[in-house]
Amino acid sequence: MKLQWQEAHPNNYRQGRGDTKVDRVVIHIAEGHLHGTASWFQNPKAKVSAHFTVGADGTVIQSVSEKNTAFHAGPVPPGQPDMNARSIGIEHEGFQNPAKPWVPTDAQLDATAQLVAGICQRHGIPVGRTHLIGHNEVFPGRAARAHCPGAGWPWDRFIALVMQHMLVRPAPSQPQPPAAVPAPQPDAGKRTVRLMDASTNLPIGTGSLVNDKVYLTPETLKQLREG
Ligand SMILES: [Zn+2]
Repeated sequence: MKLQWQEAHPNNYRQGRGDTKVDRVVIHIAEGHLHGTASWFQNPKAKVSAHFTVGADGTVIQSVSEKNTAFHAGPVPPGQPDMNARSIGIEHEGFQNPAKPWVPTDAQLDATAQLVAGICQRHGIPVGRTHLIGHNEVFPGRAARAHCPGAGWPWDRFIALVMQHMLVRPAPSQPQPPAAVPAPQPDAGKRTVRLMDASTNLPIGTGSLVNDKVYLTPETLKQLREG
Protein backbone atom coordinates (compact mmCIF):
# COMPACT_ATOMS: atom_id res chain seq x y z
CA MET A 1 0.00 0.00 0.00
CA LYS A 2 1.46 3.33 -1.13
CA LEU A 3 0.55 6.06 1.37
CA GLN A 4 1.05 9.76 0.63
CA TRP A 5 0.35 12.74 2.85
CA GLN A 6 -1.47 15.76 1.50
CA GLU A 7 -2.89 17.64 4.46
CA ALA A 8 -6.40 19.08 4.24
CA HIS A 9 -6.96 22.79 4.88
CA PRO A 10 -7.64 23.39 8.60
CA ASN A 11 -11.07 24.86 7.68
CA ASN A 12 -12.10 21.41 6.52
CA TYR A 13 -11.57 19.39 9.69
CA ARG A 14 -11.59 19.82 13.47
CA GLN A 15 -8.66 19.30 15.83
CA GLY A 16 -9.14 16.27 18.08
CA ARG A 17 -12.26 14.19 18.75
CA GLY A 18 -13.54 15.78 21.96
CA ASP A 19 -14.21 12.88 24.33
CA THR A 20 -15.47 10.63 21.59
CA LYS A 21 -13.83 7.27 20.97
CA VAL A 22 -13.40 6.20 17.35
CA ASP A 23 -15.56 3.12 16.72
CA ARG A 24 -16.71 3.40 13.09
CA VAL A 25 -15.09 3.36 9.65
CA VAL A 26 -17.22 5.02 6.95
CA ILE A 27 -16.78 4.01 3.30
CA HIS A 28 -17.50 6.60 0.56
CA ILE A 29 -17.37 6.99 -3.17
CA ALA A 30 -15.71 10.29 -4.04
CA GLU A 31 -17.52 11.05 -7.31
CA GLY A 32 -14.10 12.22 -8.40
CA HIS A 33 -10.53 11.25 -9.13
CA LEU A 34 -7.88 10.54 -6.49
CA HIS A 35 -5.84 13.73 -6.81
CA GLY A 36 -8.86 15.93 -7.54
CA THR A 37 -10.49 14.71 -4.32
CA ALA A 38 -7.38 15.20 -2.17
CA SER A 39 -6.91 18.68 -3.69
CA TRP A 40 -10.53 19.60 -2.96
CA PHE A 41 -9.86 18.88 0.74
CA GLN A 42 -7.07 21.50 0.56
CA ASN A 43 -9.45 24.15 -0.71
CA PRO A 44 -10.32 26.42 2.26
CA LYS A 45 -13.91 26.73 0.96
CA ALA A 46 -14.59 23.00 0.70
CA LYS A 47 -15.75 22.52 4.32
CA VAL A 48 -15.43 18.75 3.76
CA SER A 49 -12.66 16.20 4.12
CA ALA A 50 -11.99 12.53 4.66
CA HIS A 51 -9.04 10.98 6.47
CA PHE A 52 -8.06 8.94 3.42
CA THR A 53 -8.76 8.73 -0.30
CA VAL A 54 -7.97 5.47 -2.09
CA GLY A 55 -7.18 5.58 -5.80
CA ALA A 56 -8.25 3.02 -8.39
CA ASP A 57 -4.62 1.81 -8.53
CA GLY A 58 -4.43 1.31 -4.74
CA THR A 59 -2.57 4.55 -3.98
CA VAL A 60 -3.73 6.05 -0.67
CA ILE A 61 -3.61 9.77 0.12
CA GLN A 62 -4.06 10.76 3.76
CA SER A 63 -5.54 14.24 4.28
CA VAL A 64 -6.44 14.27 7.99
CA SER A 65 -4.71 12.64 10.97
CA GLU A 66 -6.75 9.86 12.58
CA LYS A 67 -6.74 11.78 15.86
CA ASN A 68 -8.62 14.68 14.25
CA THR A 69 -12.26 14.90 13.12
CA ALA A 70 -12.75 14.96 9.35
CA PHE A 71 -16.03 16.25 7.85
CA HIS A 72 -17.29 13.39 5.72
CA ALA A 73 -20.47 12.05 7.33
CA GLY A 74 -22.60 15.12 6.62
CA PRO A 75 -24.48 17.41 9.01
CA VAL A 76 -25.66 15.71 12.18
CA PRO A 77 -29.47 15.49 12.44
CA PRO A 78 -30.91 16.64 15.80
CA GLY A 79 -30.65 13.99 18.50
CA GLN A 80 -28.13 11.88 16.54
CA PRO A 81 -24.56 11.13 17.67
CA ASP A 82 -21.78 13.09 15.96
CA MET A 83 -20.74 10.50 13.43
CA ASN A 84 -17.78 12.57 12.27
CA ALA A 85 -16.28 12.59 15.77
CA ARG A 86 -16.57 8.81 16.17
CA SER A 87 -15.39 7.72 12.74
CA ILE A 88 -12.60 7.48 10.19
CA GLY A 89 -13.76 8.42 6.69
CA ILE A 90 -12.36 6.79 3.57
CA GLU A 91 -13.13 8.17 0.09
CA HIS A 92 -12.68 6.14 -3.07
CA GLU A 93 -11.82 7.36 -6.51
CA GLY A 94 -14.86 6.53 -8.65
CA PHE A 95 -18.10 7.70 -10.19
CA GLN A 96 -21.52 6.35 -9.40
CA ASN A 97 -23.81 5.22 -12.13
CA PRO A 98 -27.34 4.33 -11.01
CA ALA A 99 -27.77 2.01 -14.00
CA LYS A 100 -24.59 0.04 -13.21
CA PRO A 101 -23.40 0.54 -9.61
CA TRP A 102 -19.75 1.48 -9.13
CA VAL A 103 -17.46 -1.36 -8.04
CA PRO A 104 -13.97 -0.72 -6.61
CA THR A 105 -10.99 -2.20 -8.47
CA ASP A 106 -9.23 -5.18 -6.87
CA ALA A 107 -6.18 -3.02 -6.07
CA GLN A 108 -8.43 -0.37 -4.52
CA LEU A 109 -10.40 -2.84 -2.40
CA ASP A 110 -7.22 -4.53 -1.19
CA ALA A 111 -5.54 -1.21 -0.30
CA THR A 112 -8.64 -0.16 1.65
CA ALA A 113 -8.79 -3.52 3.43
CA GLN A 114 -5.15 -3.19 4.46
CA LEU A 115 -5.77 0.38 5.62
CA VAL A 116 -8.89 -0.60 7.58
CA ALA A 117 -7.11 -3.57 9.20
CA GLY A 118 -4.56 -1.10 10.61
CA ILE A 119 -7.30 1.34 11.70
CA CYS A 120 -9.23 -1.42 13.49
CA GLN A 121 -6.05 -2.51 15.30
CA ARG A 122 -5.05 1.02 16.29
CA HIS A 123 -8.49 1.94 17.64
CA GLY A 124 -9.71 -1.48 18.85
CA ILE A 125 -12.62 -1.52 16.39
CA PRO A 126 -14.29 -4.92 15.85
CA VAL A 127 -14.23 -6.07 12.21
CA GLY A 128 -17.87 -6.44 11.13
CA ARG A 129 -20.81 -4.67 9.56
CA THR A 130 -21.80 -2.87 12.77
CA HIS A 131 -18.55 -0.92 12.78
CA LEU A 132 -17.57 -0.85 9.11
CA ILE A 133 -20.37 0.99 7.35
CA GLY A 134 -21.26 2.90 4.20
CA HIS A 135 -22.02 6.60 4.15
CA ASN A 136 -25.62 5.63 3.33
CA GLU A 137 -25.82 3.85 6.71
CA VAL A 138 -24.57 6.73 8.84
CA PHE A 139 -28.01 8.29 9.21
CA PRO A 140 -30.36 5.83 7.52
CA GLY A 141 -32.97 7.46 5.36
CA ARG A 142 -30.76 10.26 4.07
CA ALA A 143 -31.72 9.84 0.43
CA ALA A 144 -29.04 12.25 -0.81
CA ARG A 145 -26.34 9.73 0.15
CA ALA A 146 -28.22 6.58 -0.80
CA HIS A 147 -25.61 5.73 -3.45
CA CYS A 148 -22.51 6.27 -1.31
CA PRO A 149 -20.76 3.88 -1.72
CA GLY A 150 -23.67 2.15 -3.49
CA ALA A 151 -24.76 -1.42 -4.13
CA GLY A 152 -21.50 -2.33 -5.90
CA TRP A 153 -19.34 -2.22 -2.74
CA PRO A 154 -18.64 -5.92 -1.97
CA TRP A 155 -19.12 -5.93 1.80
CA ASP A 156 -18.59 -9.66 2.40
CA ARG A 157 -15.42 -9.77 0.30
CA PHE A 158 -14.20 -6.55 1.90
CA ILE A 159 -14.63 -7.79 5.48
CA ALA A 160 -12.94 -11.10 4.62
CA LEU A 161 -10.00 -9.13 3.17
CA VAL A 162 -9.74 -6.93 6.27
CA MET A 163 -9.59 -10.04 8.46
CA GLN A 164 -6.98 -11.56 6.17
CA HIS A 165 -4.80 -8.46 6.53
CA MET A 166 -5.18 -8.57 10.32
CA LEU A 167 -3.93 -12.17 10.35
CA VAL A 168 -0.96 -11.31 8.16
CA ARG A 169 0.10 -8.59 10.56
CA PRO A 170 -1.25 -9.36 14.06
CA ALA A 171 -1.39 -6.51 16.54
CA PRO A 172 1.63 -6.47 18.85
CA SER A 173 -0.64 -6.35 21.90
CA GLN A 174 -2.48 -9.49 20.85
CA PRO A 175 -1.81 -12.23 23.43
CA GLN A 176 0.34 -15.03 22.09
CA PRO A 177 -0.56 -18.66 22.79
CA PRO A 178 1.55 -20.10 25.64
CA ALA A 179 4.67 -21.99 24.59
CA ALA A 180 4.07 -25.74 24.38
CA VAL A 181 5.18 -27.59 27.54
CA PRO A 182 7.26 -30.63 26.52
CA ALA A 183 5.54 -33.88 27.40
CA PRO A 184 7.35 -35.84 30.17
CA GLN A 185 9.62 -38.49 28.67
CA PRO A 186 9.00 -41.96 30.16
CA ASP A 187 12.75 -42.69 30.17
CA ALA A 188 13.83 -39.27 31.35
CA GLY A 189 14.85 -40.53 34.80
CA LYS A 190 16.36 -43.84 33.69
CA ARG A 191 19.85 -44.49 35.00
CA THR A 192 22.01 -47.55 35.04
CA VAL A 193 22.99 -48.52 38.60
CA ARG A 194 25.43 -51.04 39.99
CA LEU A 195 24.02 -53.56 42.46
CA MET A 196 26.28 -54.30 45.45
CA ASP A 197 26.31 -57.14 47.93
CA ALA A 198 25.80 -55.47 51.31
CA SER A 199 27.92 -58.00 53.20
CA THR A 200 30.90 -58.14 50.88
CA ASN A 201 30.58 -54.74 49.23
CA LEU A 202 31.24 -56.42 45.88
CA PRO A 203 29.33 -55.76 42.69
CA ILE A 204 26.75 -58.41 41.86
CA GLY A 205 25.27 -56.97 38.65
CA THR A 206 23.57 -53.98 37.11
CA GLY A 207 20.03 -52.69 36.94
CA SER A 208 18.04 -49.78 35.59
CA LEU A 209 16.76 -47.14 38.00
CA VAL A 210 13.48 -45.68 36.66
CA ASN A 211 11.29 -43.46 38.85
CA ASP A 212 12.62 -44.84 42.16
CA LYS A 213 12.39 -48.48 41.01
CA VAL A 214 15.31 -50.72 40.07
CA TYR A 215 14.66 -53.03 37.13
CA LEU A 216 16.99 -55.99 36.87
CA THR A 217 18.12 -57.56 33.63
CA PRO A 218 17.23 -61.28 33.28
CA GLU A 219 20.96 -62.12 33.54
CA THR A 220 21.36 -60.31 36.86
CA LEU A 221 18.16 -61.78 38.22
CA LYS A 222 19.30 -65.31 37.29
CA GLN A 223 22.72 -64.65 38.82
CA LEU A 224 21.17 -63.42 42.07
CA ARG A 225 18.82 -66.40 42.32
CA GLU A 226 21.63 -68.87 41.73
CA GLY A 227 24.15 -66.97 43.80
ZN1 LIG B 1 -20.06 9.70 1.07
